[in-house]
Amino acid sequence: MRNNISVIYIILICALTVCVISAKRSKQRISNAVMMLCASLLIPVIGNFIIIISETKPYAKLGYYLYFMGVDFLIVALMYFAKVYCRTGEVKHKEPKFLYVLFAADVIQIMINYFAGHVFALEKLEVSGLDYYNFTPRLGLTLHRILVYAVLACIIAIFAVMTVKMPRVYRGRYAIILVTMLIVALWQTFYVVARIPVNTSMIGYGFFGICIFYFSLIYRPHRLLDSMLTDIVSDMPEALFVFDPNKKCLWANEEGIRVTGVDIQEFELVNERLRETFGSLDSDNTYKQNRIIVADGNTFYYNIETRVVRDESDVLTGYVLSIRDTTEEQLRMKRDIYNAIHDSLTGLYTCEYLYERISERLASNVSEKYSLVFLEIKNFKIVNDLFGKSFGDYALKEVADWIRANANGKCLYGRLAGVNFGILIPRSDYSVKEIDNMLSQFVVSDGNFDYHLLIHLGVYKVTDEDSDVQVMFDRAQLSLSTIVDEYKTHVAFYNEELRRKMLWDQHISAQLVEAISERQLCPYLQPIVDTSGRVVGAEALVRWINPVDGFMPPGKFIPVFEKNGMIVEVDRYMWRCACEILARWKASGIDKFISVNISPKDFYIIDVRSELNALVSEYGVDPAKLRIEITETVVMNDAEDRMKVLSDLRAAGFIVEMDDFGSGYSSLNMLKDMPVDVLKIDMKFLSSTEDEVRSQKIIRNIIRLSNDLDIMSLTEGVETEAQFRMLSEMNCNMFQGYYFSQPIPVEEFEEYLKKNG
Ligand code: C2E
Ligand code: CA
Ligand code: CA
Repeated sequence: MRNNISVIYIILICALTVCVISAKRSKQRISNAVMMLCASLLIPVIGNFIIIISETKPYAKLGYYLYFMGVDFLIVALMYFAKVYCRTGEVKHKEPKFLYVLFAADVIQIMINYFAGHVFALEKLEVSGLDYYNFTPRLGLTLHRILVYAVLACIIAIFAVMTVKMPRVYRGRYAIILVTMLIVALWQTFYVVARIPVNTSMIGYGFFGICIFYFSLIYRPHRLLDSMLTDIVSDMPEALFVFDPNKKCLWANEEGIRVTGVDIQEFELVNERLRETFGSLDSDNTYKQNRIIVADGNTFYYNIETRVVRDESDVLTGYVLSIRDTTEEQLRMKRDIYNAIHDSLTGLYTCEYLYERISERLASNVSEKYSLVFLEIKNFKIVNDLFGKSFGDYALKEVADWIRANANGKCLYGRLAGVNFGILIPRSDYSVKEIDNMLSQFVVSDGNFDYHLLIHLGVYKVTDEDSDVQVMFDRAQLSLSTIVDEYKTHVAFYNEELRRKMLWDQHISAQLVEAISERQLCPYLQPIVDTSGRVVGAEALVRWINPVDGFMPPGKFIPVFEKNGMIVEVDRYMWRCACEILARWKASGIDKFISVNISPKDFYIIDVRSELNALVSEYGVDPAKLRIEITETVVMNDAEDRMKVLSDLRAAGFIVEMDDFGSGYSSLNMLKDMPVDVLKIDMKFLSSTEDEVRSQKIIRNIIRLSNDLDIMSLTEGVETEAQFRMLSEMNCNMFQGYYFSQPIPVEEFEEYLKKNG
């Protein structure tokens, strides 16, 4: 028996030595730990071997010392192994350092046994006629065992946790070590419990070391890699084929099998099938190519790649072919490109892309002269409101179709935004008259509704091809503001005058706030007289005395501010000035009124009613002395609301005057509902008519009617004594005009009052 077991031990010792050497040579991350583990195993195994072969007590004792102390080294090495083996990614586990101290202490206490005899004692034993030395455990050994088993249990627990926690592919890596350790633990426990006289427990440990070496350095990595590679390659979206040097197909992944429609057993058909589908594939060289294949009227895109495989000594070992179906990608890309440059509703170019194309065209084709057209659909909100959004969309598509149908190959066009379209057109290719004609009859009909779309074109003749396209379109758009009769005129042209005007508008708008705070704006007063020629009041008319641009009559800036809403600032300022003057007059006993102008925009932007009330109370002015002039456009929108404001103002004591009566759309009919006290009749409309007798009839009737309605009449623009006399005869109540005085500064007006008050 001794001889047989000895042979086993010798083999084990040799095997472990081979493991130590191989692990040292191996360059894997884990190899150092494996080497230490196998080396530490050598000590108890050799110890055990000595125990088995010893016939004398001192040798057996030496064997036991090596055995017990070797187990300590083994567990320490196992801890280190577990630490390195379980390291995943960057996460490093730290073993508790005090364990090293405990194991060192254990080694020392085992050595002390030599004197103290507290760990084990030896007794002779005869087995099958041979002498062996067995040990009797003492307290020290129990301590040693507690330490060893506790740490071993922890290490086993760690591997158990890793086995459960890890992803499927890695699980086996931990499971195999776990199972090995469990078997060894059981083997050891069996020895401790069974107390078999001849201790050969280290045979188990020896095998354990060899298994660890094999599983961690040889078996697992390869299996793991294989299974991972197989998983990856099988699931790859591309078809993969492996050929031998004779181009015989050896293997295809799942997609490869699907694409060629062959069975796993019929790889020899692969070449033929590939040729049928993809044509000839040159597999002699490593290359990449894209192939477009049309089948059953559909286009397919493939990305084909061949790789020639050679071994380290450059001998051909085979070929790998990969075929990836990129049809979806390609179609998506094409769709994305299309969507990026086309408007989704009309299918025309988007604004950005149109700009890009126009710049390119203008830069490349300098010989041709172009016009840039800004197309605008007017009042489109009405279309949407009246007929619904889908009809609106339909109308926009119709406009796009109209552009498409009338543009030739040299035109570029697109949708700029909402109801605006842009067109670049060679100047020689269109006739304004023709376009005007077409636009005047532009009817959109979806079978249920017919709607006449009002379309305006602003044209900018491109003179500087390098200008920014956006700027050119802005100019084309700007020209639209010159269209006066929107139903008659459909095409407008940009000119430099327009640009100058725009610059002027910007110039004065930028200065307004400062002008008001510096009192560059000032009220001029134009006297208003009664039939006897006595001044009864004045109209406050604004003047701008600009330090750079000089004296400016309102015609130079009022229309600009009326358009951009800044008129509110001017009017507020003028009302305040009027109140200041009235307050001063009140103090010096001048009992005259001042009329101020209220722009229609004021009603939109501010609460006219409360602002005026606040002003008169701030200055302690009688509201009846601050007359307010409105024009009929004020009541054209939101009539009910506006009438209410005017009634309230009248109720508060203000006198409301209807300015420029007869110049606009006013009808006599309107008067019966209008809450006004004075009608200011515009003389200008009289002077422009040729038939004097007829106009006199009209004016006479207006005056008569206003008298009938108890509305005072005032005629503006009285320039001659004859006019004054005539109007007086017609029973007009008040008069204003150059015949009496031009608008004059306040001090001058006060002088004038002294003579005519
Ligand atoms: P408007 O309110 O109709 O003012 C009367 C305009 O007729 C004044 O022109 C006045 O100078 C002019 N005028 C007076 N008598 C005669 C005459 O006998 N013959 C002729 N041909 N013209 C006469 P002005 O001061 O140039 O003002 C023009 C317009 O500017 C005003 O017309 C008014 O609409 C506007 N405006 C003036 N000041 C203000 C203001 O403070 N606020 C607002 N919103 N508009 C104002
Ligand atoms: Ca006025
Ligand atoms: Ca007027």
